[in-house]
Amino acid sequence: MKRREFVKIGGLGTTALIIDGCKASGNTEIKEILPIANLNQTKVISTWSSGLKANQSANKVLKNNGSALDAIEKGLNVIESDPENSSVGIGGLPDANGNVTLDACIMDHEFNCGSISYLQNIENPISVARKVMEDTPHVMLSGEGAYNFAMKNGFKHTNLLTENSKKSWEEWKIENNYKLPAINHENHDTIAMIALDHQGNLATGCTTSGWAYKMEGRVGDSPIIGAGVYLDNEVGAACATGLGEAIIKICGSHTIVELMRNGLSPQQACKSAIERIKKSNKNLKDLQVGFIAMNKEGEIGSYSLYSGFNYAYQDIQRSKLIDSQYDIEWKD
Ligand code: ASP
Repeated sequence: MKRREFVKIGGLGTTALIIDGCKASGNTEIKEILPIANLNQTKVISTWSSGLKANQSANKVLKNNGSALDAIEKGLNVIESDPENSSVGIGGLPDANGNVTLDACIMDHEFNCGSISYLQNIENPISVARKVMEDTPHVMLSGEGAYNFAMKNGFKHTNLLTENSKKSWEEWKIENNYKLPAINHENHDTIAMIALDHQGNLATGCTTSGWAYKMEGRVGDSPIIGAGVYLDNEVGAACATGLGEAIIKICGSHTIVELMRNGLSPQQACKSAIERIKKSNKNLKDLQVGFIAMNKEGEIGSYSLYSGFNYAYQDIQRSKLIDSQYDIEWKD
């Protein structure tokens, strides 16, 4: 295995300010603990090079004292609305029948979460997932119900199949005779993101059109809380890209958060989750999974099964693409 440099950026963590209040007796008691606004600690990571652009937009929110949750939504919206990006929203690659079906989920620092799966004709699925989280007693809406909910809440019906994505689908049908392409070292591109805001709160989300040319009705890990993303604000957050079926089997993102709770660094936790992916899949050929994670202190890490995975990092000073560490060097 080729060892790559692991970028560990020590976070400042949340600094607590103790406000003294006075009792009627005149005695002082500790009344409230408030976080000091700390812009230096804000940061965002997201999967793939498309994450660079998404991070910029998320960072604008964070720089203006915005919440990690707003940063996640705004950051992911950029990729959803980019017709040149074939991973989600407008221009997302369709299923085997030529329908673009979307999966997304979002989670905040108080365990609130929202998700949509098999949603069609809506440009910004992550915003619908947030609405599910904030305006319904539910976590997950799917298919037609999710679409009707979006329409009732002011989202616009949009044709997501662009000329380019339609052309790719038609070429795939002819060249592959409806054979599902493998999710391997190069063929997966879901954007998943974790942000840390000036109050020391984390949020996470992911959004995707899923496995290109998938079977009608197939849903991956991306809308599943615990698989595609997970977050416990006392510990950290994790999210995933790659073969959803493999990620669901080990509750990938939840596993990583629990490993961090038990003392592993984000990097070690991602690596350990990849070990479980290896154990739980007999055939590792044509299977790729990549995880990214951030803990409460702002330390980051990632790991993938095969080489070829990278993720974007942004804080108030720097923006860069980081090659993930991996288990197996991919050889064609
Ligand atoms: N995880 C996604 C899925 O299984 C695919 C991807 O990461 O691109 O739908």
